[in-house]
Amino acid sequence: MNYNVNEKGYYGEFGGAFIPEMLYPNVEELRQNYLKVMAEPEFQKEFNQLLKDYVGRPSPLYLAKRLSEKYNTKIYLKREDLNHTGAHKINNTVGQILMAKRLGKTRIIAETGAGQHGVATATVCALMGLECIVYMGEIDIARQAPNVARMKMLGATVVPALSGSRTLKDATNEAIRDWINNPVNTHYIIGSAIGPHPYPDMVTRFQAIISEEIKWQLKEHEGRENPDYVVACIGGGSNAAGTYYHYLHEPDVNIIAVEAAGLGVDSGESAATSVLGKEGVIHGCKTLLMQTPDGQITEPYSISAGLDYPGVGPMHAHLAKTGRAEFMSITDDQAMKAGLELCKLEGIIPAIESSHALAIFEQKTFKPNDVVVVSLSGRGDKDLQNYIEYFKI
Ligand SMILES: *Cc1c(COP(=O)(O)O)cnc(C)c1O
Repeated sequence: MNYNVNEKGYYGEFGGAFIPEMLYPNVEELRQNYLKVMAEPEFQKEFNQLLKDYVGRPSPLYLAKRLSEKYNTKIYLKREDLNHTGAHKINNTVGQILMAKRLGKTRIIAETGAGQHGVATATVCALMGLECIVYMGEIDIARQAPNVARMKMLGATVVPALSGSRTLKDATNEAIRDWINNPVNTHYIIGSAIGPHPYPDMVTRFQAIISEEIKWQLKEHEGRENPDYVVACIGGGSNAAGTYYHYLHEPDVNIIAVEAAGLGVDSGESAATSVLGKEGVIHGCKTLLMQTPDGQITEPYSISAGLDYPGVGPMHAHLAKTGRAEFMSITDDQAMKAGLELCKLEGIIPAIESSHALAIFEQKTFKPNDVVVVSLSGRGDKDLQNYIEYFKI
């Protein structure tokens, strides 16, 4: 079984590029060039240098002793929370801004929901001195004031999307409209392992630095490159894709994907796409997504803004369908409890997204000798208000 993308842009039956005719030249330019550009030694050198000096990589692989003791298994945390800007998203935006420069683009657009990807994009635009326009739903702008302020400080223009529900999907529509109107000088930075081919594969390759590092770091710690399990939370699926990438075809490594169940998988307030989703097209690719019987995308819900997405990247749809990955659903309550537990046991305040991945240890028993690597995708600073309100701190 092949779990990578094929030359047509598919993971099994999922993926492809379902885009308006007018967008075809933009996506085709990227498709024809992305692998060639990424293979250039000069590109590799600049990417790796920035990951080291600007992002702060390699991120540590940390043996969480007290957490391991509590669950009687060996738990390692891959510390993406220690990256510049506080999460894994910067790995992808650094890669894509270098790609944009190689393709001669001078203007960057992006869409953002909670604002995390908008901040990561505005950051690299400032770094490279490129114009940055971030589309964001009017409702989200009101809800996410600190991230809007960050983007503005970094020099980005934040444009409100005023149509529809005035949230993420409307911002995406605006970004696509912009790209159609500016095909020559503009690159569209997509923030997760989603979108039309080649985006899911390109984003996965930029995030694959995560599992590349885990391999040599685990060898140092344990004398072997392969853990028994790799675990990551899934919104669109970019931190997960990077954490799994170099293990996809290693049958001794079990893959666990953690989705947000919100108030409960059957509550109607959930984002557990692998359970509730049906095949459909979203953001230009065929994948699993939550929809009504007549094909309208349903509003997802999760306490964590980063997992609040109605679909899942096509690679993960394929991993779910083939059974290569075990999918688990974690509720808001389970995640919040696991997040607070990490604070008390290890002195690390995790992003609520990452807390979902940590919550599996209450649901599933591992063997004492199992080595379990969990992607700690981000830090909890941005979620402080949520934690305060939830625990009445
Ligand atoms: C955005 C985000 C996620 C979800 O995005 P993926 O593309 O699924 O990785 C997870 N964790 C954090 C900290 C995030 O900011």
